[in-house]
Amino acid sequence: MCDMEKLMDCETVRIAKVTGTCPACEEYAKENATAPPKIAVMACEGACSRGEVARRAANMVAHRLAPGETVRICLGGAFTKDTGQRSLMRRAEKVIAIEGCFINCSSRMMAGVLPELKPEIVRADLIYNLDLPFGIDEVPDEMFTVYAYRVAEQVVREHVAGSPTPGPVPSGCGCSVPSSPCGQSRDSPGPSDVTADPGSPSQNPCRR
Ligand code: SF4
Repeated sequence: MCDMEKLMDCETVRIAKVTGTCPACEEYAKENATAPPKIAVMACEGACSRGEVARRAANMVAHRLAPGETVRICLGGAFTKDTGQRSLMRRAEKVIAIEGCFINCSSRMMAGVLPELKPEIVRADLIYNLDLPFGIDEVPDEMFTVYAYRVAEQVVREHVAGSPTPGPVPSGCGCSVPSSPCGQSRDSPGPSDVTADPGSPSQNPCRR
């Protein structure tokens, strides 16, 4: 974070205000403005493979592994306008930032509009521990699911207090591990094979 006392260390950004709001986003924020407040989960929403893992992991945490305890934050919405999404973050007692890389973009962005925010930062790339390429077209979709699940499971275990440890996840992938990394529901098509990891077949827990 920049040292606010030394403004030379900070970037200055002016963001044009919008008058409209996104109805789906505001409705989701309203539904999840619970008492007590849920844990807010934001992530790098970036273009590269590492950002893709962080984004998917945040979705798994908030929508599959701990939907009762966490709420998914739209980084762009919370950063660019002071409506429902930013309110969720302001009122949250705990905020988790799943970052794609050392740039820590989500936590640094939000510190610009909510300087008092003290998110628990999780570096996704240090969990799956691979040097992924920039292009998401260079990583098999199934492996994104494997890496993202690994990150999401650790986030729930270490940062979502009171959440049960993720149990077996019904999977369409044929995985036999107790907690499937595929994170697929029985009704959704799962990856049929995860052998396509170009760099490291040993990273595939379905193949242990
Ligand atoms: S992980 Fe880093 S390089 Fe990739 S999109 Fe996010 S901030 Fe950009």
